[in-house]
Amino acid sequence: MSKWVYFFGNGKAEGNGTQKELLGGKGAGLAEMTNLGIPVPPGFTLTTEVCTYYYQNDQSYPKDLEKLVMEALSGVEGIMDRKFGDPGNPLLFSVRSGARASMPGMMDTVLNLGLNDETVQGLAALTNNPRFAWDSYRRFVAMYGDVVLDLKPEKKTDDDPFDVILDQVKGEAGARYDTDLKTEHLQKLVKLFKAEIKKRKGIDFPENPMDQLWGAIGAVFGSWMNDRAIAYRKLYDIPSDWGTAVNVQTMVFGNLGNTSGTGVGFTRDPALGENKMYGEFLMNAQGEDVVAGTRTPRPISELQHILPDAYGQLVDIRNKLESHYRDMQDFEFTIENGKLWMLQTRTGKRHPFAAARMAVDMEAEGLIDKKAAVLRPEADGIAAFLAPVFDGDAKRRAVEEGRIIAKGLPAGPGGATGRVVFTAQDADEWRNRGEKVLLVRKFTSPEDIRGMDAAQGILTAQGGMTSHAALVARQMGKVCIVGCGDLNIDYAKGVMEVGGKVIKEGDWLSIDGFSAEVIMGKLETRPSEVLQVLSGELPPEKSKNYQQFVKLMAWADEFKKMQVWANADTPKQAALAVKLGAQGIGLCRTEHMFFEGDRIQYVRRMILSESEEQRRDALMKLAPMQKEDFAGIFKAMEGRPVTVRLLDPPLHEFLPSREALKPDIFNRKVKEVADALSVSPEEVEERIEALHENNPMLGHRGCRLGISYPEIYEMQIRAIIEAACDVAKQGLPVKPEIMIPIVATEGEMRIIGEQARKLADEIIAAVGVDLKYMIGTMIELPRACMVADQIAGIAEFFSFGTNDLTQTTCGISRDDVKGFMGTYVAKEIYPVDPFQRLDRSGVGALMKIAVEKGRRARPSMQIGICGEHGGEPNSVEFCHQIGLDYVSCSPFRVPVARLASAQSSLR
Ligand code: ADP
Ligand code: MG
Ligand code: MG
Repeated sequence: MSKWVYFFGNGKAEGNGTQKELLGGKGAGLAEMTNLGIPVPPGFTLTTEVCTYYYQNDQSYPKDLEKLVMEALSGVEGIMDRKFGDPGNPLLFSVRSGARASMPGMMDTVLNLGLNDETVQGLAALTNNPRFAWDSYRRFVAMYGDVVLDLKPEKKTDDDPFDVILDQVKGEAGARYDTDLKTEHLQKLVKLFKAEIKKRKGIDFPENPMDQLWGAIGAVFGSWMNDRAIAYRKLYDIPSDWGTAVNVQTMVFGNLGNTSGTGVGFTRDPALGENKMYGEFLMNAQGEDVVAGTRTPRPISELQHILPDAYGQLVDIRNKLESHYRDMQDFEFTIENGKLWMLQTRTGKRHPFAAARMAVDMEAEGLIDKKAAVLRPEADGIAAFLAPVFDGDAKRRAVEEGRIIAKGLPAGPGGATGRVVFTAQDADEWRNRGEKVLLVRKFTSPEDIRGMDAAQGILTAQGGMTSHAALVARQMGKVCIVGCGDLNIDYAKGVMEVGGKVIKEGDWLSIDGFSAEVIMGKLETRPSEVLQVLSGELPPEKSKNYQQFVKLMAWADEFKKMQVWANADTPKQAALAVKLGAQGIGLCRTEHMFFEGDRIQYVRRMILSESEEQRRDALMKLAPMQKEDFAGIFKAMEGRPVTVRLLDPPLHEFLPSREALKPDIFNRKVKEVADALSVSPEEVEERIEALHENNPMLGHRGCRLGISYPEIYEMQIRAIIEAACDVAKQGLPVKPEIMIPIVATEGEMRIIGEQARKLADEIIAAVGVDLKYMIGTMIELPRACMVADQIAGIAEFFSFGTNDLTQTTCGISRDDVKGFMGTYVAKEIYPVDPFQRLDRSGVGALMKIAVEKGRRARPSMQIGICGEHGGEPNSVEFCHQIGLDYVSCSPFRVPVARLASAQSSLR
């Protein structure tokens, strides 16, 4: 027989914190806190197994459940010395749902359960506070009517039926706020609410507390299968057989007067990561008033002055929770007549920046070890250390000019500047037409998420650090300020007024997520502290951010097995990449150099050449420039491997495009090219026609050019090897790797590989230095994966070009996915856009084949990836799993890849 009900109270719980699966997250937390000796109102948890039983048995309960609930209930009565349903001395409960993971869509909490026309009198007498008793009662009837009896607005545009009545009674009573209502008005509300339920639902409001309790329990279990909950589970892959638990818990009252209140908090600052308790509270309030975001609560530190005892208890509990859970917790509490009660604890969500900082701090405090510290932040989050901040001078000027117009709460660090929009939809639309926007709202709600994502930053007038805006911004890593009470926003007019200044939609505004200041106008940004230190502008000892960043990165390097390289085309990029931890260059694109200065002229001359001789002539002009570029990169990399890709794009990309340009501009450009090369415009146009391709992505490009015009690759190979010889002659280490693009066959690899090796060996012998080089290929075609063993006969390394490999495997052009990928992802045809995250089952399967075949033919084969996926944590993990030697990504993603690589080895 299963144990269906778990009791907690009086310092002892039958369950504990490890039993999330059985007790749900909330129930496990309540049990754990109880066992820790933290004051938790007593109660009991109906397990998730009851939920499973309920659905497997035609929505009925286990036979002995009622008996077990009655036993647990009398246990609580014993502790509290009150009785459920006793008119003289009533005990009240909250009924709270609690799945393993917090799950929107589940039934909302019902508070004050157990009140009826008799017990309300008892509560009034017991507390000597009739107004409080009737206030609790009318809240209960409305909550129960809404969540258990399902009396909701019929249409989306309808008002809540209970609110309609409330407003009406307030109007009659001349009351502005709920708190202005007198006992008799509250009594009237209870009557009217019940009548409305009878009228609309045909049900008499259950007066019997036991009926109320079973009604609420049934509603929680029932809500597990409601549409919203099912949709949410589908989205997050939560199995439907997990079930939810139900917590029945003694009510404590934060609305009992001026020594009572309720609040929420974090054991550390969830936005900046500082090691100090963070939270907010409202005096004389109940339930979710704090998180609703419609009334700005007070910062937790103020509680110190109002109720010093309760505050002291809270600080103790905070310390206890942190040292016990060894992680930041978010918690809910209520103070009843000066006594503190804890109502919930769980691991708190945090800004990525805070996650990394906390991990480093907690290691120093001895709460966690290095391994845990490396595993804790999401790898993507480390990018927050590189995000721009406001320029100090620009900020000072703004202060002097009086452009700081308001201050709120710092919910997401960083500096953001953009044009003001007041709706999420506008944010999305403006962004899509290339605008930078700041989303300004009174408060946000779940339907605003797309717009929040589109905005540079988010600013709200209401709500605190635990409001929707703050939570979502933190998770997205957005710059965010909340609770900026001075903003008077008028959505209808599209303006806001702040301290006499008027800001219209489209005006520029800036927000500083560190100081929570709102600044009029555009503000220049500058590189983050970490980048300032790396560029030598800021001494390392002046930046705590930098110190924490390098510490975490150094730990990551200790644990990671795969190397992290960077994609870089210039010596400057290469140097930055090294500073950010790159151990090599995985992709240096030579064609980017072709556009610099007057080089393009020689490229075009080469393209317009009629004979090999003419082509060689033009190439000879290019050779010294390429050589210089390569030498610069080799030096910057100080002996780390540098993979240079030979020319990849089709030749017409270097000539004006008839498709991409308006006719008059095209003609002008053609004339310019013709004049510069002293040929006729007709000749240029003829060549453009001749080179025209219907599908350039699959056209005359990459090694196909190398096969048709061997002299092009010859020039490039010569430039690479000569540059390397020069550097080597200076006594500097150098490690060139020549990469041949878009190889599909053994023949291509053999012809170009042999040409390259012969040429390179000749040059090295002639110069007389000791230089090692490698020749390999980019793997970007499915055929190459299938014949990887044949290619590996010649190639010494593979580098997966997963952008093209994804295009050619899925048959999707990356430039054209916009039209349908959104729908595809929504319909779960692809779980995410395969150009953002490596498609493991398709593209990944081909990579696996290539790795196996390649290494079978050449066990020492070096294999890496140089597509954009190399900087995306989930893809990095896959690369680790299939045994790649390195991932290569853009310099700014190098820290992310280092962390992701370390996390992959530790998981
Ligand atoms: P959610 O999962 O939406 O946070 P909870 O079950 O935590 O729902 O309840 C929401 C709020 O209701 C709590 O933060 C707390 O303020 C209030 N609440 C729940 N149970 C009690 C109780 N036993 N006594 C007083 N307040 C309670
Ligand atoms: Mg809720
Ligand atoms: Mg809660």
